[in-house]
Amino acid sequence: MDIQKIGVIGGGQMGGGIAQVCALKGFDVAVLDISEDALAKGRERLEKAMNRDVEKGRTAAEDRDDAFARMSWSTEYAIMGDRDMVIEAATEDEEIKKAILRELCTVVPEHTLIASNTSSISITRLAAQTDRPGQFCGMHFMNPVPRMQLVELIRGIATDEDTYQTVRELTDKLGKTAVNAEDFPAFIVNRILLPMINEAVYTLYEGVGSVAAIDTAMKLGTNHPMGPLELADFIGLDTCLAVMHVLHEGLADTKYRPCPLLTKYVEAGWLGKKTNRGFYDYSGDEPVPTR
Ligand code: NAD
Repeated sequence: MDIQKIGVIGGGQMGGGIAQVCALKGFDVAVLDISEDALAKGRERLEKAMNRDVEKGRTAAEDRDDAFARMSWSTEYAIMGDRDMVIEAATEDEEIKKAILRELCTVVPEHTLIASNTSSISITRLAAQTDRPGQFCGMHFMNPVPRMQLVELIRGIATDEDTYQTVRELTDKLGKTAVNAEDFPAFIVNRILLPMINEAVYTLYEGVGSVAAIDTAMKLGTNHPMGPLELADFIGLDTCLAVMHVLHEGLADTKYRPCPLLTKYVEAGWLGKKTNRGFYDYSGDEPVPTR
């Protein structure tokens, strides 16, 4: 199947990045978000990111302009009515994703493939909400999408081989490298990464080290490019907590229990970089540790 028109649901940090990469590779891209406000915010973030790439010489101005021209934005599902493939990248909440998928299936043509960018939720369960489980799979991009090479591909129990191969080819066309992961909670990357981040929050919670000490220790002591708390802020603390819940419930092992401090930050609305405050305060020129 020849994919030309792509839809992206959720124009946040991941949806925006996916839309950017698809449009730069020549695909026609339609982005849907829940409100005009969310859509405007996502669009502004995307425009800023693409302008910065032009300033830094990563993208030619002409390519940026062509990519913008290939993108359309709406809060109405009708915009998905002519898509060959739709990638769902809305908030990491199973009920939200299920409702989106049900509504999406009322407007997309029969041939449309659907993928979810979920970080942790069962692809088989999400597929079961659609009228086409055979044409559904997991396509887990990494953040930030334009710069990260990996895409995890996940088959649900019902995913057709044709669907999987088409999505694999699309991954290649986007210039990314696909790795196959089976449909277990949080797949490969987040199964390993999120327990480490959660442990870093426990380390802070128990007073073993300050935010700066923990991040410096992991950067200089294990050669990680970012400290785990800085990385948690970058991912979004709501997403980190949601993934820990999926691991905890899905694998029924207490070793995955979310740190109460992570829960508290999310309850306070301190979601990391996207809200200007998480383990660091981002309101000034330089991030300042909050503990
Ligand atoms: P985000 O908060 O930046 O964006 C989520 C977007 O979804 C928002 O724009 C929000 O308005 C929109 N949304 C919420 N409900 C909606 C609805 N009913 N209909 C349409 N849009 C709706 O979050 P994000 O970091 O972009 O994460 C999105 C998805 O990508 C999640 O499933 C997350 O697990 C996954 N993911 C995140 C990362 C990461 O590092 N942040 C990495 C890989 C995958």
